Amino acid sequence: MSITTAMLPADGRDNSRLVDITPDRVFKRTEKGFRFSLIFKRRLWEASFKRCAYCGDEIKGHGASHVDHVLPRSEGGSESIDNLACACAFCNSSKGAGSLADLRFKVALYKSPVGGIVTPSQALALIEAGTILPIDYVRPFYFECVAREGGGYVR
Ligand SMILES: [Zn+2]
Repeated sequence: MSITTAMLPADGRDNSRLVDITPDRVFKRTEKGFRFSLIFKRRLWEASFKRCAYCGDEIKGHGASHVDHVLPRSEGGSESIDNLACACAFCNSSKGAGSLADLRFKVALYKSPVGGIVTPSQALALIEAGTILPIDYVRPFYFECVAREGGGYVR
């Protein structure tokens, strides 16, 4: 699997919020190993305009934000800030180790009138059987909207 978008979450956020976050400040050592530090999570959330980089939903508090590896670690993705994105619980768990193209379909389905009624695998089966579902297949990610609008995202 590979990244299938010309833009990445880092292109659609206010990276000035992250300039002083050196690699040693991204992680915090705990008894169970390393975790993303709260200062990093807070700054990434602020840099992402307190929204999920993918679906654009508002995330109420940095404590509720998730840090997603854009290119999954299982695919060789790094821990560099450019490979990390602020995500909501839905998008982070939906993406898992999948690609952005797979996530785009899942978010588009979730945001469609049949979201929450038809699962992604059911939707794919229905589509393959010729059913036309009311899904916006080219629905842009939030970070793509921000990047296209020069950082000044307007709803
Ligand atoms: Zn999301």
